[in-house]
Amino acid sequence: MNTIADNLAFVRERIAKAAERVGRDPSSVTLAAVSKMHPVEAIREAYAAGQRCFAENYAQHLRDKSTSLRDLVDIEWHFIGHLQRNKVKYVIAAGATIQTVDSEESVTDLNRAADAASRTIDCMVQINIGDESQKSGVAADAAEPVLQAVEAAAGLRLTGLMIIPPWDLEPEETRKYFIALRELRERLGGRTRLPKLSMGMSGDFEQAVEEGADIVRVGTAIFGERGL
Ligand SMILES: *Cc1c(COP(=O)(O)O)cnc(C)c1O
Repeated sequence: MNTIADNLAFVRERIAKAAERVGRDPSSVTLAAVSKMHPVEAIREAYAAGQRCFAENYAQHLRDKSTSLRDLVDIEWHFIGHLQRNKVKYVIAAGATIQTVDSEESVTDLNRAADAASRTIDCMVQINIGDESQKSGVAADAAEPVLQAVEAAAGLRLTGLMIIPPWDLEPEETRKYFIALRELRERLGGRTRLPKLSMGMSGDFEQAVEEGADIVRVGTAIFGERGL
């Protein structure tokens, strides 16, 4: 069986090859290791293999794991789950980048919690690109006011856009969503305003890198199937 270190090396190599295919510098792509539903021991193993950026999708899990891994001082957390009002404080306490901001109300909640914790929190706005069935994310044509709300919030810093395409597509079918997000960024102010695009998971991160992903979120290809 492959170890987490083996899997990480293979994922990093695939990212590098995808970047090179389109003339990108591989080091411009951040790999966020999605450790959701995996124990802290698995995170320590990945950390020992050089991985620093980890993503969780339940606020309590993020709180618990970041607390028990406090000794790993340069670890970086991202929150990729649906934001629930009463749990925002856990995400803020972990100092995580929040990738799933999707309404002006959530901006208000986050800013209040960031202020209370005297923190500045990196935020990405989650976009629901033309997919009626997907519940979370703000529609592309309604994104501007949410971006402005983040920019106006003293405790928050706007760092980019994120998408979760429909789950059941083939990798090549998700490519059009990656392209759409890249084009949306151009319409909304480009890289200067929105430095990072978070897109691509285990099944399609190579396509995402080819289309300009700055952050890919990879779980299964690193940690194996989720148990817990
Ligand atoms: C679980 C999850 C991932 C990782 O999915 P894998 O297919 O295991 O790589 C990425 N992004 C989000 C938002 C997730 O919830």
